[in-house]
Amino acid sequence: MHEDFIKENDPQERLEKLKPQYLSTFINRYLEKDCCQRRARDFCERCLKPALAEHVNKRLGIRIVDDLSSSEKASGYRSRACFQLSVLQKLLEELDFDNYMKYINDYESFVKAAIRRDISDHYGNRESVEALEAEILSNIIKKVRGALEMPTDGGPSTVSDFVANLCRLLQKDLVIPRDSLEMILFQFTASADPSQFSADIRDSLSELEQNLASEFKAVNMEEKLSKLQVKPQDELFKRVFGCGTQCPFCGVPCEAEGPTHRKHFASAHRPQGLRRRSDHITKILGYSLCSSDVVSNALFSNSDTNGKLVPFRDYRQHYPDWLIQPDPSAEASDYWKFVFKEFKHQLARLYDTKPAHLPEDWGKLTKEQALESIKGMYSM
Ligand SMILES: [Zn+2]
Ligand SMILES: [Zn+2]
Repeated sequence: MHEDFIKENDPQERLEKLKPQYLSTFINRYLEKDCCQRRARDFCERCLKPALAEHVNKRLGIRIVDDLSSSEKASGYRSRACFQLSVLQKLLEELDFDNYMKYINDYESFVKAAIRRDISDHYGNRESVEALEAEILSNIIKKVRGALEMPTDGGPSTVSDFVANLCRLLQKDLVIPRDSLEMILFQFTASADPSQFSADIRDSLSELEQNLASEFKAVNMEEKLSKLQVKPQDELFKRVFGCGTQCPFCGVPCEAEGPTHRKHFASAHRPQGLRRRSDHITKILGYSLCSSDVVSNALFSNSDTNGKLVPFRDYRQHYPDWLIQPDPSAEASDYWKFVFKEFKHQLARLYDTKPAHLPEDWGKLTKEQALESIKGMYSM
């Protein structure tokens, strides 16, 4: 009996006996750990990855707009006035009749084309877009890491609670797909350790970031830009185009800020002959400016007046939404006077009229004076 007792309590004997039990616990632990890591990878792949890709897509358009607006090269996007100035300056440098006609006769298409060109000039090389993507991705991954590092002591006791908390912390930035999330949570037992799951997700994040970056690289630029949730071309257009309503006489677009302005307004009106306005009888192209006409004895007639001649100074009876101010200064319209003078003959040919008889002082206007007048007008 004594021997039996010794045999039963011999440490070596006892360990030998318990060996299979330890082994199975060890295997179970190992398998469970492996399972937890696999679920963490699944969570990254099926929940975080689509949410991160969507976040980058959503932010990229906005970042392109901000980036372009603050860049030195495309300084025209800082404000509507800057845009006007940069467009008019470029037109003046090139002094191309067809470009001016596109600008004058179809301002909206002209602006859209200019924006498209600037975006492709600026982001023609994919590195600049990839750099923006990488920056957005790295910032959001930092946020995810921060949320994962929240203290778990006394915090969520189950994996479900932990994930619910994580989603809540990230809800402003990430929309985690519900279905995939439930599929993953379903595989956890009630006793699964949330802090282990959190640590496993953290371990998988760098790989996830690399995978996403290489997936972004595989998409060509055109496809990338066309799939953006916030389209930079539309945002920039809204920013610089403004109201866009054109003056009924000369076609200059309204420059008023804000969607609720009561009156349309433009800093400088253009010689009306730029838009085919000629004398009915003499067929000579007119050169008068709306801003001078409204304080003169001139008359106008068109389909809005049923062909009846109406004094210009009464224009608001027909166009109550427009406020045409008399020329604020003698130089304000130098830009358009110069352009009109330069293209006097092309305009007459285009509109099949006789060239305008311009005042003598228009003939002396220089390109420099034209440039000075728009710089003054857009107060740069
Ligand atoms: Zn006008
Ligand atoms: Zn307006």
